[in-house]
Amino acid sequence: SDPDIDHVFAEFSDINGISRTKQLRTDYFLDSWASGFSVNLLLLAQTPRNAVPEGSGVGEEIDYGDGTLRPIPHTARRLPWRDDAARVLCDVVDGDEPVDASPRTALARVLESTPDEFEFTVGSELEFYLLSETEEGYEPVTSHKHECISWATEEVSAYYNDLAAWSDEYGASVTSLMHEHGAGQLEVLFEYGTPMGQADDTFDFKRLVKQTGRCHDLWATFMAKPFGGRAGSGYHLHVGAFRDGENVFEADDADVVANNDDSGSLSQTGRQFVAGIVDHAEALAALGTPTINGFKRYERGSFAPYTASWGYDNRMTGVRIPSGTTRIENRIPSADANPYIVIAATIAAGLDGIERELEPEPPVSGDPAGDWPPLPQSPEFALAALESDDTLTARLGDELIQAFVAAKRAELESFRDTVTDWEREQYVKTL
Ligand code: GLU
Ligand code: MG
Ligand code: MG
Repeated sequence: SDPDIDHVFAEFSDINGISRTKQLRTDYFLDSWASGFSVNLLLLAQTPRNAVPEGSGVGEEIDYGDGTLRPIPHTARRLPWRDDAARVLCDVVDGDEPVDASPRTALARVLESTPDEFEFTVGSELEFYLLSETEEGYEPVTSHKHECISWATEEVSAYYNDLAAWSDEYGASVTSLMHEHGAGQLEVLFEYGTPMGQADDTFDFKRLVKQTGRCHDLWATFMAKPFGGRAGSGYHLHVGAFRDGENVFEADDADVVANNDDSGSLSQTGRQFVAGIVDHAEALAALGTPTINGFKRYERGSFAPYTASWGYDNRMTGVRIPSGTTRIENRIPSADANPYIVIAATIAAGLDGIERELEPEPPVSGDPAGDWPPLPQSPEFALAALESDDTLTARLGDELIQAFVAAKRAELESFRDTVTDWEREQYVKTL
């Protein structure tokens, strides 16, 4: 207990990956933290703007009342942008039981069922747009004339310096910054870690990216496709697996002989993990692309994937095996996805491939057009695929999947009530 800290924010991730907090006076926090803080569990499963229509059923099927936020002591951090407050991440429990619809619980559940021999290392790669809000709308902070991976990053140095310093204080240390394809689009990498450590860090990092924006009077957004005709923002998840310090995804001589059809760097186990991701691609698209907007990112001819496919060093496939240290990059999720859910679902799908000893189709080089099943083009289709994916449902938990699907259907219902400018432009005069 630090005498300067007057407030403690009890923080948790809702189903969207949005940070929810209760702000508590430090005295009250210290008196009560062992028993926890009550919270309305419905909050877990609301849509991003809380637009849960009356009678939508969200929360009903899981019988939501009040639960408890239980602080996780090792996650306590001072808030770097002010000197009088700290925050602590919380697990969401109901009595003594974990609440299964909590994304952090779902990841813990997947990790519990992971064979002890595997040690996963996980790295989140996130893209986002940095925008200013003007009378005319949202303007990118860097110009359309800038190239990808260019000195345009100098134009955001004040923002980035704060982000880097604050991330260090959070223990999610930033390692690099680069300018992406879109005007105002950045990719900032931070240190990778264990699955749960990286999920917490990714959740924190996304919050810091947004908070740093606020402090600079900018909006940082992980929205998957903020502008038509400009690059979408991906969330590429890198997964490595080790057994006694040996990389189990990397081929040894015996594997290379067995796999001489592609002579790639993946071991048999690595190939099975990839096959699991490809096999569950539709459900992974539902969980990894949680908004109606994000499906516009799955676009042919961009570096976002649009098929359930894989390849060596291929940026057009759903799964890429990067050159260098052998690891598996799931490119299906968009930046708006919940890191707890993306990490849980990717590991669950890969483990299923290993358990079923799935053999993937040969890898693609170049554009996977035609030969590989397309990723879902609509959320309705993806959600139906998710609901019928019994394996991912069992591994992540029925309640989480039900809550996710109900929240997403409520969001779609709310969108159906909205008529867009595009529709009026197309139809008012012509039809
Ligand atoms: N922006 C692309 C996506 O949405 C990824 C570009 C890249 O390979 O970095 O996934
Ligand atoms: Mg990128
Ligand atoms: Mg990448």
